Amino acid sequence: MVTNNLRFDGRVVIVTGAGAGLGRAYALLFGSRGASVVVNDLGGSRHGDGSSTKVADTVVEEIRRAGGKAVANYDNVLDGDKIVKTAIDAFGRVDIVINNAGILRDKSFVKMSDKDWDLIHDVHLKGSMRTTKAAWPYFREQKFGRVILTSSNSGLYGNFGQANYSAAKMGLVGLANTLAIEGVKNNIHTNVIVPTAGSRLTEDIVPPDFFEHLKPEFIAPVVAWLCHDDCMENGSIIESAIGWAGKCHIVRSDGFMLRKNVNDLVSPEAVRDNWSSVTNMQNAKRYGSIQEVTGEIMTTLEALKSRE
Ligand code: NAD
Repeated sequence: MVTNNLRFDGRVVIVTGAGAGLGRAYALLFGSRGASVVVNDLGGSRHGDGSSTKVADTVVEEIRRAGGKAVANYDNVLDGDKIVKTAIDAFGRVDIVINNAGILRDKSFVKMSDKDWDLIHDVHLKGSMRTTKAAWPYFREQKFGRVILTSSNSGLYGNFGQANYSAAKMGLVGLANTLAIEGVKNNIHTNVIVPTAGSRLTEDIVPPDFFEHLKPEFIAPVVAWLCHDDCMENGSIIESAIGWAGKCHIVRSDGFMLRKNVNDLVSPEAVRDNWSSVTNMQNAKRYGSIQEVTGEIMTTLEALKSRE
């Protein structure tokens, strides 16, 4: 029987931090749609201490009991090559990497230690890089790959007490921007998910009546679509929560030329006096590439030169 359902038969997906919360929901959905799943989780606390094989094993059991294929991996995402090796040893390939593992070390900036900073950057940013980098040669060879990087509204907008987390989460947006460009010729697509979900990371932050609507299961289908063969989305930031999804862009104002002709200098007073024009977002525009932005600067320079 031919159906219109999205399937992942023959595809091998790695989900990091898949023992709980969002990662678990992703792993279960992929497992139910025919993918072979590597359930990675080191089973630590939400601050990154300790380890246990239990959470990953439980999710593997859940997938197998429902008739799916899954294996556990207990490595830290910093050892991404070992996670990819698990996929190759168990299933012979890797097609999709969902970088989801995460912890929190919330502190106000004044109290934040180097350890708080480094640990968050290691798990979120370096761990995502390591796991994706280990899968990348397979993606290039087979001319197919799908990568998800997990950011946060704390990164996009900032949040008190999360300087370390915000910086790492915004770093993932930068990583996705460039991976999307480098991968596209080999059919490797990279997108960013910005979730808001009820999990142990948010249980003491959001009110209970809101928490119950923040099911990770509402976000998993969005991630699944982004990872499907038919999905051409690449280099995008997709926010999702409560069964809703939308796309985010960075936009820039029209800006303002601060010199009257090409031989002028720019004075701090000219910046002050024209600040409202510099920051006027009324005609703010999205740019599609660094070439487009640089090209516009060159055009603006030519216009300035022609004023002479
Ligand atoms: P969660 O704590 O329920 O799950 C995260 C899992 O990652 C845990 O099972 C943990 O053991 C595992 N993990 C942590 N460090 C690891 C490491 N080094 N290697 C392997 N596994 C590791 O959290 P969640 O809410 O499901 O969060 C998942 C991701 O989504 C995180 O990256 C988080 O920052 C991000 N996020 C979540 C929310 C939200 O509202 N829940 C919002 C924005 C971003």
